[in-house]
Amino acid sequence: MIYKTRYSMISKLPDVKTTIFTVMGKLAKEYDAINLSQGFPDFDSDPKLIDLVTKAMKNGYNQYAPMQGIMELREAIANKFDVLYNVKYNPETEITITAGATQAIFTIISTFIHQDDEVIIFKPAYDCYEPAIELNKGKSILIQLEAPNYSVDWNMVKQLINSKTKMIIINTPHNPSGSVWSQQDMIQLEALVKDTNSIILSDEVYEHIIFDKEPHQSVCLFPYLKERSFVVASFGKTFHTTGWKMGYCAAPSKLMHEFRKVHQFNVFCANHPMQIAFAEYLKNPNNYLNINSLYLEKRNFLLNLIKDSRFKFIPSRGTYFQLLNYSAITNESDIKFAQRMVKDYRLAAIPISVFNSNQIDNNMLRFCFAKKKETLERAAEILCEI
Ligand code: PMP
Ligand code: GLN
Repeated sequence: MIYKTRYSMISKLPDVKTTIFTVMGKLAKEYDAINLSQGFPDFDSDPKLIDLVTKAMKNGYNQYAPMQGIMELREAIANKFDVLYNVKYNPETEITITAGATQAIFTIISTFIHQDDEVIIFKPAYDCYEPAIELNKGKSILIQLEAPNYSVDWNMVKQLINSKTKMIIINTPHNPSGSVWSQQDMIQLEALVKDTNSIILSDEVYEHIIFDKEPHQSVCLFPYLKERSFVVASFGKTFHTTGWKMGYCAAPSKLMHEFRKVHQFNVFCANHPMQIAFAEYLKNPNNYLNINSLYLEKRNFLLNLIKDSRFKFIPSRGTYFQLLNYSAITNESDIKFAQRMVKDYRLAAIPISVFNSNQIDNNMLRFCFAKKKETLERAAEILCEI
């Protein structure tokens, strides 16, 4: 007997397709290509960290953690804010451990966005912001930044802020462009939101991957921003453990109180043994202070190898992504060229148009350089051959 479905289904996300990371990753596997598409390291995390997780599991930390996260880890994070930025967050009321930055972002948006609230987003933007806004019936207000520098026109931002602007999402160092906001950018933002009701969601997952001696401009450094902001961070990005999906967010207690109301029904709590391990691992600041130099060396290694190729670039200023412009090679769309590169050359990257407003195509591909030297060498050989 054949059963017919009796329900009609109206998608809550009618325009959302499978993400580009899944699409390119699958294609890379199919063609056995070098995969510089999705952002993850191909080298191991620190064995000390793995040992700490193993020890925590053996010591019986295998049941639920407290909803907010274990206190030792929240204290270690509060201490990190103090060491790095000389700012205070109360670990009791202002820091929550999350299942990666993605869950923090989704929960922040779900907590604060009501129907028709406006959320300003700078494009190209990481892909998880807009679907979360749409699910909560908010309205994404997109500001397209211009290639190749992706700097912000603050006059345009000023024109778009109004009484419906509930949230502004910022991301520095920036995925996918590798651009970095200056102190001046943050001062401009601060001046614009000072007398408004807007909350800032500051995606700082690449805070420890910033080059050329530029200081990271965290929102927490600017008092009028700090009082209305969530700082979002990812242990996956910082400690080469993207598969563990661990992160956290920090915000003033009034905002965090509301966040936790949703968080407790979203995941309730994050992975317990990994929290025990990170609490211990964060005690040594060298474990996060040396990450910049690791990635700076990788960026320079790759760029030096491809300096005579037909790809044009401005060196990435932060994140572990490098944009390459291929307009001297072909006038194919970035999606077509990215697909052909996998099939014909066995090298996978991410086309940038998918992150832009109206899929603007500037002939740019994003390459992840969080890879071993051998992988970067093999990729560079191909890039020089194309
Ligand atoms: N924001 C940005 C800008 C990212 O690149 C990523 C990918 N790591 C995330 C958020 C999500 O981080 P997580 O893997 O910790 O969920
Ligand atoms: N953050 C990763 C990137 O930008 C992707 C993570 C994912 O696949 N959602 O490549």
